[in-house]
Amino acid sequence: MNDRTALVTGANKGIGKHIAGQLAAEGFTVYVGSRDVGRGQRAVEQIDGDARLLVLDVTDTHSITEAAAQVDRLDVLVNNAGISVSLTPPTESDVEEFRRTYETNVFAVVEVTNAFLPALRRSPHPRIVNISSGTGSVTWSTNPNPQFTPGNGGAAAYRSSKAALNALTVFYAQTLAEEGFKVNALAPGLRATELNPLATTAGGDPADAARGAVRLTLLPDEGPTGGFFSWDGTPVPW
Ligand code: NDP
Repeated sequence: MNDRTALVTGANKGIGKHIAGQLAAEGFTVYVGSRDVGRGQRAVEQIDGDARLLVLDVTDTHSITEAAAQVDRLDVLVNNAGISVSLTPPTESDVEEFRRTYETNVFAVVEVTNAFLPALRRSPHPRIVNISSGTGSVTWSTNPNPQFTPGNGGAAAYRSSKAALNALTVFYAQTLAEEGFKVNALAPGLRATELNPLATTAGGDPADAARGAVRLTLLPDEGPTGGFFSWDGTPVPW
């Protein structure tokens, strides 16, 4: 066990796997969160360093409780697990798309974060990074994706879930500021992962996004909290 420990949720593939690998390279003991044992174990085997499988379905209270019981002290929590089930505007969305999306992208972040707070409070410099999305910004005009430009209501369930996650990032940062926590949100940019067909076909290298997340896990005590940053470190408007 290294001096510093980190948990990345949804780390069996995509951006999360890169974040876990890069944190292991930084010298962390990394808990690779995965709801599937086989997929999680394969990811662990591909990471150089001290990586350990932590079976964790972020939408399952029992799974969260079991996982939290296995972690004594945690320095870094990366809430990365996320889903994108539809690219439709609200007028064409089924409310079930919203419920499913919010279960993973919003409610689960609250339940996972709260379950791991006791372990995070044992860290001298606790850091929480929420993997959000630039598409969750309601004002950002430089987003290159036509579906997601403010003024176009595409991917409403996903984008509003990330807007809610951004708000929660601020509220956690405010609540935990006096305990020395840094809580920030990351806009990883469009990345080639299995998140949705758009990401798969048009996305860039997920390793670059992971570097942005790792930067936020390594913030010094005088660093920002309650912020929303692009993968390259520039602030993103809410
Ligand atoms: P992937 O689909 O490649 O990875 C998503 C990960 O989340 C998988 O490991 C998946 O596990 C996991 N996951 C989903 N639901 C659960 C659950 N209930 N419990 C545990 N794990 C779960 O997508 P990305 O790597 O792209 O996504 C990572 C994050 O980045 C997400 O929050 C996404 O919204 C965000 N993001 C991605 C962008 C992109 O362009 N790719 C752009 C902006 C933001 P499993 O294999 O079991 O399904």
